[in-house]
Amino acid sequence: MSTIRVPEADAAGWRCACCDCDLVLAPVELEYMGSHFSVELPACPQCGAVLVPEPLALGKMAEVEKLLEDK
Ligand SMILES: [Zn+2]
Repeated sequence: MSTIRVPEADAAGWRCACCDCDLVLAPVELEYMGSHFSVELPACPQCGAVLVPEPLALGKMAEVEKLLEDK
């Protein structure tokens, strides 16, 4: 399983709302259209909270859809 990088997921400038520490990019497993993917998203190294960028939350996962079409 390859890790997908999305341009919207940029850890720079984000802080965890709980711990106030800097977020780092970490592979997060997502299920999308019946398939599992590993996507790099900004996550808190302390509590594990994951920031889902708005375009992803809205379902605009163009990179993932491209991957599905290639199969
Ligand atoms: Zn945290």
